[in-house]
Amino acid sequence: MTFNQPLGGNDMPRFGGTPTMMRLPEAKTAEGLDACFIGVPIDVGASWRAGTRFGPRAIRAESCLLRPFNVATGAAPFASLQVADLGDVAINTFNLPDASRRIREAYADLLRHPVRPITLGGDHSITYPILQAVAAKHGPVALIHIDAHADINDTMFGEKIAHGTTFRRAHDEGLIRPDLTFQIGLRGTGYSPDDFNWSRGQGFTVVPADDIWGQHLTGLIDGIRARIGDVPTYVSFDIDALDPGVAPGTGTPEIGGLTAWQGLQLIRGCRGLNVVGCDIVEVSPPYDPSGNTALVAANLAFELLCILPGVSYNQ
Ligand code: MN
Ligand code: MN
Repeated sequence: MTFNQPLGGNDMPRFGGTPTMMRLPEAKTAEGLDACFIGVPIDVGASWRAGTRFGPRAIRAESCLLRPFNVATGAAPFASLQVADLGDVAINTFNLPDASRRIREAYADLLRHPVRPITLGGDHSITYPILQAVAAKHGPVALIHIDAHADINDTMFGEKIAHGTTFRRAHDEGLIRPDLTFQIGLRGTGYSPDDFNWSRGQGFTVVPADDIWGQHLTGLIDGIRARIGDVPTYVSFDIDALDPGVAPGTGTPEIGGLTAWQGLQLIRGCRGLNVVGCDIVEVSPPYDPSGNTALVAANLAFELLCILPGVSYNQ
């Protein structure tokens, strides 16, 4: 068995060649893959700044810097997993419900294979149809949701599908286990003191950002991992969970967010969970002139790959 390897910087300069995710080969289907990167270029679910339709492309471009070995954790994902870049889902930018249907069908199709998708967004509306496909295969999943926002509105401007209604829809349809749903990093201005209490009322665990300012998060994520056990788990990482100083290129920034290393601690602490899918969403390149937000997202996507079941570790 030979595994796909990212194209190295000594074979082609990192600024040359086709900018697939981590310079991996492209694949047309998920057949034979253990994990895949897949983009969902959409921003018509966003309520404030747009631009996340360009997220997958920008993340892929910045990912060309990434080397294949995780020096901090010892993860060597390309030594034991077959990984490729599956390209983008052909969304309908003129019709969000139809785009959601297309996303759901694309994921249902790829999940016929034993592949774990790492999705590059796109605004957060994409996680709803992805969870529909994931739950159709695995049943209701545990959810680790890292975000400045709870995304639990019933409607936005009268619409059931938007980037701020994702986890209300997922809960209403029984796609997630409310007792095993963890929302981490919530903050910002709101409408009422009850803004995060709907989540708590359903049994979600809510960890506001200001409760964890300045803290190491390994203990928090260790406790979450113990509670989840071997239940199939989905990890959804909204880049706006991080402080806008770290990740300014996003549609709905909120001050006082997580640091980059707190984000790394949360993802690395997911090692050992049965993560059946995950995403990095809400990178908006038009608000990211340095490319740093896309660079952070590319690194977090690699870190998500590194915690998937079956990854070999060299330390
Ligand atoms: Mn979100
Ligand atoms: Mn958010």
